[in-house]
Amino acid sequence: MTRTPVIFSGHGSPMIALEQDEITAGMEAAGSKVLKEYGTPKAILAVSAHWYTKGTFTQSEEHPTQIYDMYGFPQELYQVRYPVHGDPALADRIAELLGNRVAVDNSWGIDHGTWTVLVHMFPKADIPVVQLSVDSTLTSEECFEIGKKLAPLRDEGYLVFGSGNIVHNLRRVEWDNPDGTPMTRAFNDYIINAVENGTMDRILHYTKGPEAAYAVPTPEHYLPLLYCLGAADGAPAQVFNNVCNLGSIAMTGFFWSNEK
Ligand code: ZN
Repeated sequence: MTRTPVIFSGHGSPMIALEQDEITAGMEAAGSKVLKEYGTPKAILAVSAHWYTKGTFTQSEEHPTQIYDMYGFPQELYQVRYPVHGDPALADRIAELLGNRVAVDNSWGIDHGTWTVLVHMFPKADIPVVQLSVDSTLTSEECFEIGKKLAPLRDEGYLVFGSGNIVHNLRRVEWDNPDGTPMTRAFNDYIINAVENGTMDRILHYTKGPEAAYAVPTPEHYLPLLYCLGAADGAPAQVFNNVCNLGSIAMTGFFWSNEK
């Protein structure tokens, strides 16, 4: 049976939700590829950088709330609607796969790490979404292991999706820079190369990469990549949106699939 792909996407500025550019086209293409080649996923398990918790949590609500967990943006961003259903059955499956390493927490919702990308990837909002938190108490290896344990979901028609950024340094953002700095490029290229070649050691021990302190000043935007790599379970990766912007953001995405 065909395994559903795994997708990691950069999200960067929440304003991406309102954009129509080469990056959003890349997101759209990744979503269309899933629908065309694999059919509509049963649900999406979204690992968002913006649900960064002590412990691993998931959501079991039938009707999760879309949350606007970002501040100081134009009003129209707060009017973007992504009214997806949840999937309590997926939450049950996650509990089976992760055992006592996961608990349900319905106090969060569908956050902007998830919806600012999915509005482009799956604009119909007709695929249920369940989020999994990024656990701040885990090592890189442990995040990867959690992802691995979730890989069987791909045999059951679920799409594992991670949203973060390989390079994400808000303190160093250059709002008028349409490109990435050489430091951003160096770390981005290093990780892309490692993902393409399956050099897990480099990916897990990313703090040894070039300009790592600049690229990953805090780990929450990087770690969703590790959950995705675990779930990808050795499938080859295709890069999309190899674009850096605002100086210190990489929008790079990966699409892992066992076919083609
Ligand atoms: Zn973010």
